[in-house]
Amino acid sequence: MCGVAGIHAPGRDAAALAALAIFSLQHRGQESAGLAVSDGTGVMVYKDLGLVNQVLDERRLASLSGERAIAHCRYSTTGSTVWENSQPAFRLGPARSVAVGHNGNLVNTRALLELLPGGRDRMIGTTDTELLTALLATEPGDDLVAALLQVLPRVSGAYSLVVMDEQRVVGVRDPHGFRPLVLGRLPDEGWVLASETCALDALGAELVRDVAPGEMVVLGERLPSGEPAAPRSVRFAEGREQLCVFELIYFARPDSYMLGRNLYEVRRRMGEALAREAPAEADLVMPVPDTGAPAAAGFAEASGIPYREGMVRNRYSGRTFIQPSTNLRQRGVTVKLSPLREQVRDRRLVVVDDSIVRGTTTRQIVELLRRAGAREVHLRISAPPIFHPCFYGIDTQIETELIAGQKSVDEIRDYLGADSLSYLSIGGVLDAIELPRERFCFACFDGRYPVPVPYDPGNHKFVLERDDAAVVG
Ligand code: AMP
Repeated sequence: MCGVAGIHAPGRDAAALAALAIFSLQHRGQESAGLAVSDGTGVMVYKDLGLVNQVLDERRLASLSGERAIAHCRYSTTGSTVWENSQPAFRLGPARSVAVGHNGNLVNTRALLELLPGGRDRMIGTTDTELLTALLATEPGDDLVAALLQVLPRVSGAYSLVVMDEQRVVGVRDPHGFRPLVLGRLPDEGWVLASETCALDALGAELVRDVAPGEMVVLGERLPSGEPAAPRSVRFAEGREQLCVFELIYFARPDSYMLGRNLYEVRRRMGEALAREAPAEADLVMPVPDTGAPAAAGFAEASGIPYREGMVRNRYSGRTFIQPSTNLRQRGVTVKLSPLREQVRDRRLVVVDDSIVRGTTTRQIVELLRRAGAREVHLRISAPPIFHPCFYGIDTQIETELIAGQKSVDEIRDYLGADSLSYLSIGGVLDAIELPRERFCFACFDGRYPVPVPYDPGNHKFVLERDDAAVVG
């Protein structure tokens, strides 16, 4: 996943604005944070492992001056969680610097490595982003946009990028628009690029439009008179949007808007559809906090069953799933969730969540509720079963880890220990979104991958960390 932001704020320091934007995108990745800033003559980068407010504190921001900045928070899909892999990735080329923040995941990483003179020995980190940055830095000339026009046609997969050199900040969205990227106008003067509209709200910025699939938006340029230029649009490919539907179901913040839809409202309607498709006899409807809440509200409204909270979430714990190993993930859930015993005891519960990936967390939630005295637990999931791995920026690349790929719905219900289990249908998702299916990537649900992912055992998260990484599969 990851969150990205880019700022051009003429005459002002952009670093604090970029940090604030990325702080609002913290839900998209909690492994590392960083920013790059340019004062027009040089690019400075500061990044580290940790949350945005741990890495980018006030003292640090005060030392980063310049009117152009990009920022990033990371959720890893290629490469380990180490400092070298935090972003922005940075290269000092012969004619200009390049810094890159990337949301998404490339699917031809091994083939791209063949294009880099010197191969893996020339890389600092082991991410697809690092490789892309190295390729951009080796392009001759001092025109960043020209370098992007050379390199991007060779890149395949999912990428919403913020890219900068000394003079420009460029927003890029891949031809399928798998990941979101919006352009906004700052309240005084200037422009902002961000993964989601919630980052614009934090800056008091106004949404201008989505960056189109296959488009670059260039900020930070100045007219011959010295006046700041308006954003410039450059097409690098014909685009056809297939936004990741999981952004709408789970990933993005509910106050954000995508394709003109508010995501809280979309999720609430998914809950309504679920109540129609899979009713249950119960005393209470409750969400798995926090992300299950909008769908639970919709389920309660449509079913007439009262809504109540049945668990408290420790708001200082991160997203459990994002822990690096199953072991840590398992320990995470009791730290994160605690039952409200008086609400749960002796009651028949409808428990609504947005998705089941591996089933590890959900199983523990059912157990937690049973131990708190729940009489019945009816699980209702406001997304279809996830049968297929994602190679476009969600870290579910290993098919055997997906419970729906391994077991039938009845077997999953038994494994989770629930009295009943139902998922929302793809039709139900589309009814809630009110847009045609062709506008989205549904690959994790239907296995139709918009960008072919060749079967390649070497094409995995640690593709650039193995000894044989330079061998083409
Ligand atoms: P599990 O039962 O282990 O499959 O975990 C399901 C929980 O993980 C649900 O509450 C989801 O909201 C959440 N979830 C789904 N996909 C992701 C993801 N890619 N990253 C983090 N959490 C996720």
